[in-house]
Formats: sequence, C-alpha cells, structure tokens
Amino acid sequence: MNSSVVVLGATGSIGTQTLEVVEHLGLRVAALAAREPTPRLASIAEKYPDAVVIATGGSSEEREEFSRRVGARARFGSEALLEAASTPKVTIVNGIVGAAGLRSTIAGLEAGNRVALANKESLVAGGPVVKAALERGGGEIIPVDSEHSALYQCLLGESPESVSKLVLTASGGPFRGRSKKSLVGVTPEEALAHPTWDMGQRITIDSATLFNKGLEVIEAYYLFDIPYDRIDVVVHPQSILHSAVEFADGSWKAHLGHPDMRIPIQFALTAPDRSPGLAKPFDLAGSDLTFESPDRDAFPALDIAFSAGRRGGSSPAVLNAADEVAVEAFLQGRLGFTSISEVVQKTIDTVVYRELISVDDVIEVDREARVAAASLVERHAD
Ligand code: NAD
Ligand code: MG
Repeated sequence: MNSSVVVLGATGSIGTQTLEVVEHLGLRVAALAAREPTPRLASIAEKYPDAVVIATGGSSEEREEFSRRVGARARFGSEALLEAASTPKVTIVNGIVGAAGLRSTIAGLEAGNRVALANKESLVAGGPVVKAALERGGGEIIPVDSEHSALYQCLLGESPESVSKLVLTASGGPFRGRSKKSLVGVTPEEALAHPTWDMGQRITIDSATLFNKGLEVIEAYYLFDIPYDRIDVVVHPQSILHSAVEFADGSWKAHLGHPDMRIPIQFALTAPDRSPGLAKPFDLAGSDLTFESPDRDAFPALDIAFSAGRRGGSSPAVLNAADEVAVEAFLQGRLGFTSISEVVQKTIDTVVYRELISVDDVIEVDREARVAAASLVERHAD
C-alpha cells in the first residue's frame, strides 16, 4: 500500500469518505483538490498541514481570500491539478465529478501511479485514451465505484476465458416501479431522494434516470474487456449485493456488504490486501434480497447507453457530456425529468461520430456535445 495519497474532489461525497478512510489507515495526504476555493476546502486543508491544496475554479477575490487562509501551499488552476496527479509513488483517488476528471486520471496513470478511480466519466468519455495511458505509463486502475469494485474482487484469481457474464446491480433509484407517464413532471427534490446511497447531485439524478447504470455498463466494458452482450443489469433495491460474475461452469461469485462507499474506497487503497474497515458489521440473517429486471420503457437511459457503448468511438463521450448538461438543466428547473434522456439521445444523433485517439479529441467531442445539448435543452424547455 502506498503510504501517501492525493485526494481529488476532496470536498465531495467520495472525497469526504476517502479522508475518513485515509485517517483510519494512517496514510499521509500529499495533496487535496477541489473546484472551488471555499472555506470548506480551507478547513479540510488545516487538518493536513503537509498537503498541497488546489482549487481549479473561483474568482480572483475568492482565490486571494483562500491563499490568505491556507498560505503558501495553496495552488490554483488545472496545471496544478495535473502536477498533483503526477506526484511520484502516491495513490491518486479521483473523486472529481464529470469529464473534468479525465486529465487527472491520465496524468496519474502516465506517472505510473495507482489510480483509485471513482470518476466513472474518465472511462466513459475517454475509454480508449485512458487505456493507452495505462499501457504507456505502467500505472494501474483500481475501481472505486461499488459495482466495479465488486466485479474486480469477484474476478481476482480468475482467467478472462472463464467469465460468462458480468451482472451489475442497480438500486432502481427513487422512481422504481413508476410508469413512464407518471415520471413527467417529477421534481429535482423527488429525484434527489435516493433510497440507499448518499452521493453528489449528478450521480443521484443519474441513478433516478438509470443513466448512472448506463455509464457503469460502459465503465465495466473498458475496465474488464467484456463485450456488451455479456454485461447484464439487474435491479436490486436493497443495494447489498454490489454486483456478480457468472462463470463458464455455472458458478456465480457475488460481492455483498452494506452500501457504504468507505468499503470500496479502502479496498482501492489496500488492494490486493485488506485491513479492518470502518463499516458496521453486516448480518445476512434478516436481510431480504430481491432482484428484478429493469423497466427499459420507463427508463430508456439504459438502452441509450448500451447502444452508445456498442457504437464506441465518440458516442459514450457525447452521451456523458449531454447528460451532464441535461442534469444541470433539470436541477435548475429548465428541463423536465423525462426530457433528460430525450436530450441525450438527440445529442448522440446530432454530433458527428469519430474515433478518439488523443485527450484533445475527447475534450473537443465533449465541448461539441455540450453546445449541441445546451441548444436542445433550450428547445425542450418545459
Ligand atoms: P460530488 O459532487 O459530491 O463531489 C465532486 C467533487 O469534484 C467536489 O469536490 C468538486 O469540487 C470536485 N470537482 C468538480 N469539478 C472539478 C474540477 N474541474 N477540478 C477539480 N475538482 C473538481 O460528487 P461525488 O458524488 O463525490 O462523485 C464523484 C465521482 O465519483 C463521480 O464521477 C461519481 O459518478 C463517482 N461516484 C460517486 C459515488 C458516491 O457514492 N458519491 C459512488 C460511485 C461513483
Ligand atoms: Mg456505482
């Protein structure tokens, strides 16, 4: 286990839980990063006096105020972020939300680091580019997303040929069981009320539309090199069984536990070893585990993602960017819930398909898709 970590997205849901795990394991924090130079980031920084503290956003007044509080170790801008991700011999925990996390993942891998990857958008938007960086730099990705951590653990010691299928579980979100028609007009407050996980806003809305599961299918494809027709999704409302693998001989392996992100975060830091963790003990007796097929009519996001994944190239990057724009518009009351998947599908149909060779290709596709999605949002305004 690396004794030093760099925590990107330190003020977020993943970042906060990472810092709990880091403290529990007694690791050193080499750098902390977030978008805004807020008093909250400054107060986190006070607890880690050795850490460089980076904010990529904020006005010049906010940055000045932040520097006054944090002192000489305050750094600003995306170059500082990439420098932190390239620190030698550290584990990078990438808890940044959105395609903004891609460059950090690449910088970490190129420096030969372990990247504990929560930022699913890195692989969804830049799968081929991230895999090239992995080979070039000799780093490694250990997934933090609970489903992928589960799959990674089920696959330890197994040969790729023996895998029949990967099964990702989905909680179904707050609207499980609702008809397509009844979802017109649901509010951000209703969509933000996730039944089992407490997460950032974008992923919570994505869990309500099932785009989150769609992104995770694409993430699994790039992480484990399994074709899309051997990746399944099953709804499991209790979020106890985090994902499963079916093998050629008919055996299944599944990963279970409390829905507590500190478990996969810790495993990504200690893997392949394990240490005592922070989650409360789990008792299988009395747990009621149920499984059902996803409703692909009420939640078209899943099929949109499968089809974008199968198309490959720029399509998953377009899907991700369009979804980021549509979710933001939904949260601001500018777009209806069911229009999110319509905007995403139309953006995929609009933006010209291409192969992704470099990070700049991904950034350009991401930019074009945002412009296209924003104009579709205008037209959908309801
Ligand atoms: P969040 O909204 O709670 O936090 C996001 C963090 O990213 C914040 O610290 C923010 O300042 C930072 N950030 C955003 N843009 C940035 C930029 N340009 N430069 C630097 N920092 C930036 O989000 P979250 O729920 O913690 O999710 C983070 C990532 O982890 C997402 O990709 C999400 O899909 C994934 N994930 C989260 C969970 C969870 O339980 N929260 C579970 C699985 C996967
Ligand atoms: Mg997940």
